[in-house]
Amino acid sequence: MKKTSAPSLDDSVQFIKGVGPGKAKLLEKLCLTSIEDCLYFLPFRFDDRTQCKKISQAVAGEYVTVTGEVVNAGTMFMGRRKKVFEVIVQDETGIMRAKWFRFNQTLFAEKFKAGRKIILSGKPTLNKRSGMEIIHPDTEQVSGENVASLEIGKIVPVYHVTDGLHLKSMRAIIKNVLDKYLHLLEEFLPADIIRRHGFPSRTEALSQSHFPPQGSSLNDLDAFKTAAQRRLIFEELFLIQLGLAFRKKYAGEENTGVAFKTRGELIKRFVKLLPFELTRAQKKVLGEIMEDLEKRKPMNRLIQGDVGSGKTIIAITALLTAVDNATQSALMVPTELLAEQHYLNILPYCEKLGVALSLITSALKGKERQRHYENIRNGETQIVVGTHSLIQKEIQFEKLGLAVVDEQHRFGVLQRDAIGKKGDHPHILIMTATPIPRSLALTLYGDMDVSLLDESPPGRQRIATELFFENRREVAYNLMEKQLQLGRQVFVVCPLIEESEATDLKAAVTVFDYIQTRLPKYAACIIHGKLKKEERQNIMSRFLKNEIQVLVSTTVIEVGIDVPNATVMLIEHAERFGLAQLHQLRGRVGRGAHASHCLLVAYYPVSDEGRARMKAMQDSSDGFVIAEEDLKIRGPGDFTGTRQSGAPLLKIANLLRDIQLLKTARKEAFRLIERDPDLTATEHQLLQKALHRFLAEPTGTTKII
Ligand code: ADP
Ligand code: MG
Repeated sequence: MKKTSAPSLDDSVQFIKGVGPGKAKLLEKLCLTSIEDCLYFLPFRFDDRTQCKKISQAVAGEYVTVTGEVVNAGTMFMGRRKKVFEVIVQDETGIMRAKWFRFNQTLFAEKFKAGRKIILSGKPTLNKRSGMEIIHPDTEQVSGENVASLEIGKIVPVYHVTDGLHLKSMRAIIKNVLDKYLHLLEEFLPADIIRRHGFPSRTEALSQSHFPPQGSSLNDLDAFKTAAQRRLIFEELFLIQLGLAFRKKYAGEENTGVAFKTRGELIKRFVKLLPFELTRAQKKVLGEIMEDLEKRKPMNRLIQGDVGSGKTIIAITALLTAVDNATQSALMVPTELLAEQHYLNILPYCEKLGVALSLITSALKGKERQRHYENIRNGETQIVVGTHSLIQKEIQFEKLGLAVVDEQHRFGVLQRDAIGKKGDHPHILIMTATPIPRSLALTLYGDMDVSLLDESPPGRQRIATELFFENRREVAYNLMEKQLQLGRQVFVVCPLIEESEATDLKAAVTVFDYIQTRLPKYAACIIHGKLKKEERQNIMSRFLKNEIQVLVSTTVIEVGIDVPNATVMLIEHAERFGLAQLHQLRGRVGRGAHASHCLLVAYYPVSDEGRARMKAMQDSSDGFVIAEEDLKIRGPGDFTGTRQSGAPLLKIANLLRDIQLLKTARKEAFRLIERDPDLTATEHQLLQKALHRFLAEPTGTTKII
């Protein structure tokens, strides 16, 4: 497409030379719609084509580039049906074959006429019958033009591509974009930051990250360690951290929340009701919370604590402190089941203390619902427990002083903000049970103060974790039976509720039937999300009273359930579960005085990732270690629900690889916002513009701001 107005970074990719509507569609598949998208679409690795080798020097399995003359070319059959296009190339030292399984006959016949001089690049293999060959090599004709080639004689970029869009055209597209648009880029990083870190300019960094200059190191490039790449990584992380620094600045200071009086009468009475002594970690975290609450600046704190570390008591203390200060408080949790659990947990305390507690779930209907809402509005209800239904329009608080969000990783950051808007700058406390790697925490919660609950209540047992493949499933069930004979209770978790054609997952019902036949002496029950609330509560309370010994369930029990006499967590199809989920499930046992077991039952075929996850479970019981492992296995792009939870989608930076740069970027960003809170200084004008642009991006970081 031709364009008449001045070129801009927002131009559609259609304006790139050689890109028509068809190619534009393909680029869109790679999330490339604008010129700027293309500029920041970096190669994920590089090929070293600096040196052309002789054919006889080619080694099987080692990437190589050779030049030679086409001796022969044409299709042949491999086996009865498979058609292959084969080109035989020769230089003065020998011959090499190139083979394609997908090809355009006419095009290829034309391209590889005998006598042509061509260049082949790829990884050769040694074919026992016909010698060295390269399957699907990159090829190019040798001619005068090759002097300016993007393909040969240098380190060449390798991009992610999609069906129908070849690597070669991708390189040409990027080259065209750089040639035509690079000069439009403005430098927005502050000069002193560039100087202190020795970063190249923005244009230099982009150009060199795509097409590395002579003498670049392939290793550095592949590890994203060149100065050019580091500058771009820094740039991305810096903008994110700048946004967070901004957010942190404005979350508190200019607005005034309500300063609470802490450790009042109500709290004193509450502490006396506790059946146990608080752990050192709990006391420390509570101290930090109380200090926050005493200020007029609203609290904005995250508690990170492993499953079972005792976050609930901390939440209740905070909720009651708000009540003690004549305001209301709310506890928001991700599932109805967990809301019910928390409600039942808190209720006895509230009854003894004379505090009005209300449970809001989607199950509330009609008049009953209206009554609950009315009581929240007129302030009669003091503490409200509920799911995200708490943030719907109809719910209005008379005076919300504090909100706790539990298991935050299940919510979007937007929901965190939404609950905050239910009051006039209420104190906010976020609790997350899946410890997340530090680098992710800094990007997700970088605007919050963090408390670590790094100690479990006393008497916790290490949970023995064992893996059984399907052929040894019986052994797992025998172990389980032994625990039942000792008077213990067990959980059996299955991924799906009904056998569906689409999957071969063991249905909970099938497992349930199996257990009833195999262990007729014990009372078993099945619990799942489709059951009515009353039925679920009923089953749970019977399980708690040991009237039920075997609880078969779908993953609904994943969070929050607490039954100290349960000592076995048997997970069917463990290979299908995510690592964080497995860890959460395991945390349901080992809560009492008895030794506990986590039995993973896996079914073939098991993917490499599945194996890695189950190995991580056997190797560690530390949530933080598991979280790091999870990040490694999945890769940062796909970390546990981060997409849903509003984590910024990083284009260049990698939270696993770039932790050091992340820390640097964070330090610089927070320092800058200290000095120039609104980025109004003349030398920060372009930065301010860049930040706005960055934050406005639909797929970018809007959500964290
Ligand atoms: P989580 O951090 O996973 O939310 P919970 O708050 O549910 O953990 O606590 C897990 C279990 O530990 C509960 O049974 C709770 O009563 C118990 N608990 C919490 N704090 C202590 C403590 N200081 N001493 C003994 N048991 C405790
Ligand atoms: Mg909890």
